Amino acid sequence: MMRLYCKQCNHQVTNRPLQKIAVESLKFREEEQLVPYGRFANAEEAEMQGRLRLSFLVREGELNVILTSHGKRLYGCCGYSNMEDFTIVCGKCSYEMGIIITECSWEHYVGICGDRVSKFPLW
Ligand SMILES: [Zn+2]
Ligand SMILES: [Zn+2]
Repeated sequence: MMRLYCKQCNHQVTNRPLQKIAVESLKFREEEQLVPYGRFANAEEAEMQGRLRLSFLVREGELNVILTSHGKRLYGCCGYSNMEDFTIVCGKCSYEMGIIITECSWEHYVGICGDRVSKFPLW
């Protein structure tokens, strides 16, 4: 089981421990949730690291994170589709840590950068 903590404020960003799921079990289908409840996938194994070098893929709602205050980054036709900039930040300290994809052209997920979070409390 995996928990994630913000590297800047040590706040636990996982709302509950997440269990790893194999890439083969992810649901690559437009407008559907990529990752099941309570699970996470390795972004590198899924070949979905992108420019931000994502490490973890999770379902929206599993993390205590919020949208960036940089409104121009939050574009998409009916949701968010920006994979190039941080659009998700720590819910407590606003440390930039990932992206959220929620528009109709893609499967829906939150991607988190491994170098912005820790699997263990830092202090
Ligand atoms: Zn759309
Ligand atoms: Zn934080």
